[in-house]
Amino acid sequence: MIVFVFYPCVIWLVAFSYRRRWVSFAVSLASVGPVALVVLLAQHFLARGAQGLFPTVWVAPGLYALVVCAVGLLISIQPRRAREDECRVCRYDLTGNRSGVCPECGDASVPPREGSGSDRTRNAA
Ligand SMILES: [Zn+2]
Repeated sequence: MIVFVFYPCVIWLVAFSYRRRWVSFAVSLASVGPVALVVLLAQHFLARGAQGLFPTVWVAPGLYALVVCAVGLLISIQPRRAREDECRVCRYDLTGNRSGVCPECGDASVPPREGSGSDRTRNAA
């Protein structure tokens, strides 16, 4: 039973770690697969001859898979926080950047570096 709690935690942890990347979306969408596989296997091996159960046996696992997938996708679209030495727009590595402007995308909201003195120069110009 603990697998019902453990499984979404793993999916959501991967989704969180790789949010805004294709891995996150792929893992969230693929999380439906194992649930469907378990239901199909259970149906095949445990409920032989119980064809009348077919539609209802999918309701609870279907809702479960839907919630795991939907929450995974919600986590996937959450923005990643830029590291202190990354551009907040394009994540370009700004180590050693003293201009205060990202050379990759031109974003001027680069946090000033200690000892750079670029703020004084920029404000005077
Ligand atoms: Zn940038």
